[in-house]
Amino acid sequence: MLIEKTIIELSKMLKSGETTSVEIVKAYLDRIAKIDKEINSYISVTDSLALNLAEESDKRRSEGKELSEYDGIPIAIKDNIHVKGEKTTCASKILENFVSPYDSGSYENMKSVGFIVIGKTNLDEFAMGSSTESSFFGITKNPYDKSRVPGGSSGGSAAAVSANLAPASLGSDTGGSIRQPAAFCGVVGIKPTYGRVSRFGLTAFASSLDQIGTFANTVDDAAALLSVISGYDKRDSTSIDAEIDFAPESLSSDMAGKTIGVPDEYFQGISDDVNSAVKKQIENLKNAGATIVPISLKLTEYAIPIYYLIATAEASSNLARYDGVRYGTRSENVTNLSELYENSRSEGFGKEVKRRIILGTYSLSSGYYDAYYNQALKGRALIIEDFKEAFSKVDAIVTPVTTTTAFKIGEMVSDPLEMYMSDILTISANLAGIPGISVPVGLDKTGLPIGMQVLGKLFDEKTILNVAKAIEENCESNSPKL
Ligand code: GLN
Repeated sequence: MLIEKTIIELSKMLKSGETTSVEIVKAYLDRIAKIDKEINSYISVTDSLALNLAEESDKRRSEGKELSEYDGIPIAIKDNIHVKGEKTTCASKILENFVSPYDSGSYENMKSVGFIVIGKTNLDEFAMGSSTESSFFGITKNPYDKSRVPGGSSGGSAAAVSANLAPASLGSDTGGSIRQPAAFCGVVGIKPTYGRVSRFGLTAFASSLDQIGTFANTVDDAAALLSVISGYDKRDSTSIDAEIDFAPESLSSDMAGKTIGVPDEYFQGISDDVNSAVKKQIENLKNAGATIVPISLKLTEYAIPIYYLIATAEASSNLARYDGVRYGTRSENVTNLSELYENSRSEGFGKEVKRRIILGTYSLSSGYYDAYYNQALKGRALIIEDFKEAFSKVDAIVTPVTTTTAFKIGEMVSDPLEMYMSDILTISANLAGIPGISVPVGLDKTGLPIGMQVLGKLFDEKTILNVAKAIEENCESNSPKL
């Protein structure tokens, strides 16, 4: 079936004439129409754009003018990344009817090789959350168990790939939002180095942490899409011109000569199933020739407070633009300018977004700036040092992605602090800017997916993809029963 194929398989089928782009796009649109009411992975389906682009792609191919080996393959895009002429809601009421005036850098790169956008996926409002429960457009369900969350904030992008509603997707990761939902939904998810993918046209949450990355069913596919969207963009002042050396054909699962670190701090409070699945793969890496060394990332316990101070401070500043004047919904119920601001924001933002704006504004206010925000920046510098020291001894670090498998819908909503604590294993990588990947390593006793994380040096996506490939080769692939 077309919807079970990888990007690389679809590419071969298109090349040999076994299928067409229109056929592939229609197969996905049919499946979305059939089962996405239950999963709710998409906020909008860009069906007419996708079909037009597919027809153009088939025409190019029949004339021998295809743009690349990926020409005509559909991809889902998280609904905080802009595609011109389509809605970008960030899963917020305040942007319910916002239509993107331009393409994001990442989508421009996709388009230039012929990838097709098939729809915009669900997320936690403004990417703030770990469960996709704070979306204004309803909760996304985990395809493995619909009473559970898909993770977040890129829950829609992960669930769409897991449920074969797209062969791959784009997400964004500020504190774990690609790796954690990838782990919960049993797919591969990679957050590249900060600066690797243009943030132009990614709606800002916390600008010094936000990074776009990819979801797919295989490591090769995740690498394929990532190598397309990577690259320097002068419209993003933090974009970096680094060599893109991780196309799928350049990857290798050979672990001989590799040194891999295992930080004790990342194995505290882990459920038994997650612990044993990850430990088993560490053993396999050793058998494949890697040298495994214990390391310490001693500042791990400070990562949550540091992250939640920096992320909320940046969010409070970034979200100031939604004031009912230029962007977003404008309250009808106003008689003067301050009411316009106040009412538009009160009516447009959800609870979690408001909580973060208030927290961020507080820690940036005079009198508290030094005690909170400034201290957090110092802590962040120490976390960067912690990783530098570790990477002077090892090529990659392996850890679990999450302490447990997917939790129940509603289980954590009443306790935001517990939800924040669940990010403990992913957020340090964002604070340090380093790349991280989540790769599926089997199911727990109840049939829910488990993820393993591989962290790497700045701009060394290649090594973490190689390690992920070695892990993938040792694991059976699973898919949800739908
Ligand atoms: N769960 C984290 C948060 O709520 C990370 C979100 C993200 O990476 N976008 O901020």
